[in-house]
Amino acid sequence: MKVKPEFRGMIALNVHPFGCRQAVREQIASVGRRGKFAGCKKALIIGGSSGYGLATRVVSAFGCGADTIGVSFETGVSGKRLGSAGWWNNIWFKEEAEKCGLVARNFVGDAFSREMKDEVIDYIKREFGGQVDWVVYSLASGRRTDPADGRTYTSALKSIGCEVEGATIDINKKKIVTGRMAQASDEEIAATIKVMGGEDWLLWIEALAAAGVLARGCKTTAYSYDGPKATRAIYGGGTIGAAKRDLEAKGREIDRIMKRLGGEGFVTVCRAIVTKASVYIPLLPIYVSVLFKVMKERGVHETAVEHIYRFMRDMVYGNRRVTDDEGRVRPDNWEMDPAIQAEVERIMPQVNDDNLETITDFAGFMDDFLKINGFGYEGIDYDGELDSDELARYRY
Ligand code: NAD
Repeated sequence: MKVKPEFRGMIALNVHPFGCRQAVREQIASVGRRGKFAGCKKALIIGGSSGYGLATRVVSAFGCGADTIGVSFETGVSGKRLGSAGWWNNIWFKEEAEKCGLVARNFVGDAFSREMKDEVIDYIKREFGGQVDWVVYSLASGRRTDPADGRTYTSALKSIGCEVEGATIDINKKKIVTGRMAQASDEEIAATIKVMGGEDWLLWIEALAAAGVLARGCKTTAYSYDGPKATRAIYGGGTIGAAKRDLEAKGREIDRIMKRLGGEGFVTVCRAIVTKASVYIPLLPIYVSVLFKVMKERGVHETAVEHIYRFMRDMVYGNRRVTDDEGRVRPDNWEMDPAIQAEVERIMPQVNDDNLETITDFAGFMDDFLKINGFGYEGIDYDGELDSDELARYRY
């Protein structure tokens, strides 16, 4: 079977397994070029199969030399479906880590469930040396079943207070279209907080602490996004922003638990990148295309793994931490630099169908978007036949 990129809206319908291998290898090579630093030794990454979670796992393993556990929700090969990108990222990460003598254990299933927490804790106790010293919460999900009452909550990407309109990109037609975000009901706001807020991060930390598997001095973080004025109505001021505020409130509770262990817990605000989760948010594609252009021109653009490398080396394990008034760690300081934002704000209102590819880095946005699913890599034979039976034999 041949696999070509196909999309429905911003959802990728297929994936190239060997392109994903290239993606993982390039992340590892990027860390290799930057060099090793002293940091974590035993890392647990919840949401470790793609985006920021995978980048964190790569930096933990190949930057710090840590053994890692990754928890993710991914689908494998079934019939003509070749699995999700994260499925393959797990397989290739493990392969590369083991080549270097590192332990890389993947758990695939629902991180929100009690069973997953128990399974991971049991594994840490029995086979992972008994404790972890770095726990990163990097889930992005649209649904969550609360183990307390068995109810399933669905998050809503909506605005709060009034309907919001904003330009976004139709990637198939390469045209600017108007994206509308409906106003969320109170129930939708509450459901989004349930899914993307901090409750589950707190449940993880409570379970890990109660089981005695957090090492003395252990650190934990969850990733958040703030974004500039340009996206405020849609992101910060919308349902997802409300969920992130809940994450920050839970982060303060988590910090108190961690402090008792001589460690710390904090929320980290990361820069905007192209991931499976982020392309979904209206306005973000156009903002990111402009941001990439401005940051690349000024030589301060970072990929996910470069961003997490700087964050972990300088701000987690080094002494160059940037924080804000709320105690959040801010590796997004380069994105939020007033000079960068002023230029982005100047360009954004000018973007139209004719200049999309010249005054923005739409090409860079699309390149990243394709690469998340293993497309667009040099050296991969995209015309070659893939054998799904053979691919089904790979194990994570
Ligand atoms: P992503 O879609 O690339 O990764 C999400 C991860 O969550 C995957 O590993 C997926 O398998 C896992 N996951 C989802 N549901 C799960 C479940 N029920 N059980 C187990 N695993 C599950 O997303 P991302 O963009 O890297 O986002 C990760 C975090 O980073 C989010 O909190 C997001 O808000 C934050 N963040 C993202 C950006 C950005 O621009 N992408 C910027 C700043 C912060």
